[in-house]
Amino acid sequence: MQIKPELLKTIRAANQAVILSHRSPDGDSIGSSLAICHFLNDLGVKANVITPDPAPDFLSWIKGFDQMHNHEQHSSEVEGMIANSDLIFCLDFNSPSRVGSLEEALQANTNAYRINIDHHQEPEDFCDLQIVDTSASSTAELVYQFIIELATLETIDLAMAEAIYTGILTDTGSFRFSSTSAKTHEIAARLISIGVQPQNVHAAVYDSYSAERLRLLGYALNEGLKLYENDKLAIISLDDSVLKKFQFKRGDTEGLVNYPLSIKSVKISILLTEKDGKIKMSFRSKGDMAVNGFARDHFDGGGHINAAGGISHIGMQATIEKIEGLIDELLKS
Ligand code: 5GP
Ligand code: MN
Repeated sequence: MQIKPELLKTIRAANQAVILSHRSPDGDSIGSSLAICHFLNDLGVKANVITPDPAPDFLSWIKGFDQMHNHEQHSSEVEGMIANSDLIFCLDFNSPSRVGSLEEALQANTNAYRINIDHHQEPEDFCDLQIVDTSASSTAELVYQFIIELATLETIDLAMAEAIYTGILTDTGSFRFSSTSAKTHEIAARLISIGVQPQNVHAAVYDSYSAERLRLLGYALNEGLKLYENDKLAIISLDDSVLKKFQFKRGDTEGLVNYPLSIKSVKISILLTEKDGKIKMSFRSKGDMAVNGFARDHFDGGGHINAAGGISHIGMQATIEKIEGLIDELLKS
């Protein structure tokens, strides 16, 4: 990562910064955003973290979580913050369309200096400074390097370290996805040396759910899971009535799409969840099988080779039938 030293001056000169996360924020986008927020605050720059919709509760222990603002519940306040900012960080997304309802406000502010830090494939050029590395395990890993290059290791305090560690932990599936590198572990080691307690972060993220969430998992695997093509493709579908029955809360389906990958024959897993009449789609795959192109071409989505997302507007049954009609294309990708 080559960052010009003048950048620190530009950042310090800012009066009001906003840090934007993508729709359906996850551990990486929130961890990265809160780490950058603490960094800016330490430099004396006022900063607000903004999300299009609320972040899940399993991240609520990260310092600064309660001070974040979401557009869904506070639209005019959030739009005002974006309009009045002179520095905008866009974290963990590769296209302005990923901020959903915030896109208009983001595009309307043409005066602010924009910095994008991201690791997704096919980045769009929408910021003044693009710090993009598609080989990085997570945006949090890049945020760590960004802070270290602009400042020093001492700049990273425990709150920042925990936020960054959470981003890395969640985006690497607990250090197991192929994007996990020696560098990822080196950074994790340094974060631990700053004081991060891996067992505490892991427990806070993964052992903080309700009983209903575990029962939803049971239902999803027993009733919601269907296998196709000699068990190469897995689809889990959860419609609105099921989610209501198990008192679904934001974050309850996090990680669910990965379970079918534990079946030896399964190459691709898809999770379909109904929300406000739309079907949210999560794709995961093993090895060379790519799912991002399929998500982009058929479901208005995209992402990484082994993890992608998309959206469908035709209802649950029609979405399943559409995938069934495209199985050959999907499994050859
Ligand atoms: P998830 O299944 O966890 O919601 O998303 C997995 C990955 O797919 C995310 O890290 C993100 O890269 C990508 N992704 C999810 N939804 C979308 C979408 O609507 N559009 C694009 N371009 N990528 C998405
Ligand atoms: Mn990420």
